[in-house]
Amino acid sequence: MNKFEQLGLNESLVLAIKDLGFENPSEVQEKAIPLLLEKDIDIVALAQTGTGKTAAFGFPLIQKINAENRGTQALILSPTRELCLQITNEIKLYSKYVKGLHTVAVYGGASINDQARDIKRGAQIIVATPGRMQDMITRNLVNIENIEYCVLDEADEMLNMGFYEDIRSILSHTPDSKKTWLFSATMPQEVARIAKDFMDTPTEITVGHKNQGSTNVSHEFYVVNARDRYSALKRLADVNPDIFSVIFCRTKRDTQAVAEKLVEDGYNAAALHGDLSQAQRDGVMKSFRGRQIQMLVATDVAARGIDVDDVTHVINYQLPDEVETYTHRSGRTGRAGKTGTSIVIISKSEMRKISQIERIMKTKFIEKNVPSGMEICEIQLLHLANKINDVAVDSEIDNYLPKINEVLAELSKEDLVKKIVSMEFNRFISYYRKSRDLTSQPSERRTGEVPTDGAVRYFVNIGQRDDFDWMSLKDFLRETLELGRDDLFKVDVKEGFSFFNTDAEHADKVMSILNGYEHNGRRINVEISNNDGGSNSRRRDHGGRSGGGDRNRGPRPGGDRNFAPRGERSDRGERSDRGERSDRGESRGYERRDDNREPRNERRGPARRSDSSTSAPARRPRRS
Ligand code: ADP
Ligand code: MG
Repeated sequence: MNKFEQLGLNESLVLAIKDLGFENPSEVQEKAIPLLLEKDIDIVALAQTGTGKTAAFGFPLIQKINAENRGTQALILSPTRELCLQITNEIKLYSKYVKGLHTVAVYGGASINDQARDIKRGAQIIVATPGRMQDMITRNLVNIENIEYCVLDEADEMLNMGFYEDIRSILSHTPDSKKTWLFSATMPQEVARIAKDFMDTPTEITVGHKNQGSTNVSHEFYVVNARDRYSALKRLADVNPDIFSVIFCRTKRDTQAVAEKLVEDGYNAAALHGDLSQAQRDGVMKSFRGRQIQMLVATDVAARGIDVDDVTHVINYQLPDEVETYTHRSGRTGRAGKTGTSIVIISKSEMRKISQIERIMKTKFIEKNVPSGMEICEIQLLHLANKINDVAVDSEIDNYLPKINEVLAELSKEDLVKKIVSMEFNRFISYYRKSRDLTSQPSERRTGEVPTDGAVRYFVNIGQRDDFDWMSLKDFLRETLELGRDDLFKVDVKEGFSFFNTDAEHADKVMSILNGYEHNGRRINVEISNNDGGSNSRRRDHGGRSGGGDRNRGPRPGGDRNFAPRGERSDRGERSDRGERSDRGESRGYERRDDNREPRNERRGPARRSDSSTSAPARRPRRS
């Protein structure tokens, strides 16, 4: 008896599984399938991406459905159109030997009437995105009042994308008697809330450690100055000529900007994010699958549906806030038994995030140096030599050889080789000849000048325009600096900058962690102010308001607002234009002037083969 039969699956499924070439059930399949087949229960199954969750619910679902009844019996909700189509496709493959079973995909960006018509013809299983499903229900195009099963797939992502209300509303049109199967890679609070609000004491299945990444993936990080992020990215691409990668940024805006720069610099790159139309996204994914795009720059949400094997590198251009997100990102590589590398480009002040990831994922990062220009040149040269060696020669060329030989007659073989190689190589060597070392050097800060006693007042370049009020800034600083409630005082928030105090013992920490720290894509700069902020004694901020209870907060930082990459505009210059700096004394030598200068010598990289299909699509706002 084969392993899948042992789980209780019937012949038609076992046949289809054979066709698919699955030999052994994955762990989540092993745990979920018998349970779902034997019992009519609600379950919550947690297993990381790529562990075969689709089949874990798909197999038992197909077996439990009555194919002779044409009514809709199951609804599978999934976050994106990509995933919706992927699941539909899988379910169709699994059920190919089940006569009369029909699965219909329901998603935005395609004709709602066509989808409604397909459902009318009889669809026992509907796979839908929440938005379009809600639409169909409102328009009375679908009836889910008699479904027996509802699957919430990639529940964490659906909630991330703001589908809670849609899900709630859709579920309100389903009968209480239905069973709900929730599948998710992670279990954030919102998912727990769904389980609590909409499920009937679900049985929980957890596979592996909740946050463990794939063991096929090695993790590396490169410490650079924040201004060198992009140059470092280029070098990482150049040192891996066959790179096939997904590059993650935190915001749509950064995603678009990085992709545009890469394209401008001649790389086969494109952006993937939610502001692209569905057609544009499909186009990008098609080019990526077809390898016309080597570097796909994506937001976390947009990349969730990427199911492309063979991705060699995942590059965290910026680290995400959540370790779980990092787990997802790195899971884009090392798939299907292959190995992959997950790279993090960070500034020194973010180093502690690495140990946090290491702790939670129970994995180790390797610290690496950004390759030098000369290393890259050598690798590119060898790559080129190999390419020349491997190139197929078309016999057509014989016709032209006499003339070509005539032109090249004077060259020795050695000279010929040099010239051919130089054709490709010159641009690398000229670009990298004078390149500097990008790996961040030990802190240039002059620690001798850190005050050792009394209170220290700081000037920091974030304020109201970054959505901070004194309370949220204090919270932000406390969390970032890991300081206690009373370690920070006299927090004073102005439009474009703020002040705060700590005891001198924390000055070193404040300066080293906060300087260069990125908040919403903006680099924080902190300086020690000579002004002590009034009396030297401590007082609580704004007196009576700190009495606890329900604090009336202003908008929290870290919301949707994004900052444009800073480009050439220097924080310092901008601030000094304001003339509001009466509170700020002379800085005490903590300025790292260099940090505000854009790299000029590395603006343009060597051009690569570039073809028109790979340019970044234009932005167009889109409602999903
Ligand atoms: P998840 O939803 O957990 O991210 P998927 O269901 O998309 O994972 O499965 C990932 C890949 O693994 C798919 O290509 C799928 O066909 C394949 N797969 C699933 N189960 C098995 C199995 N038992 N043996 C081999 N491959 C499998
Ligand atoms: Mg899945």
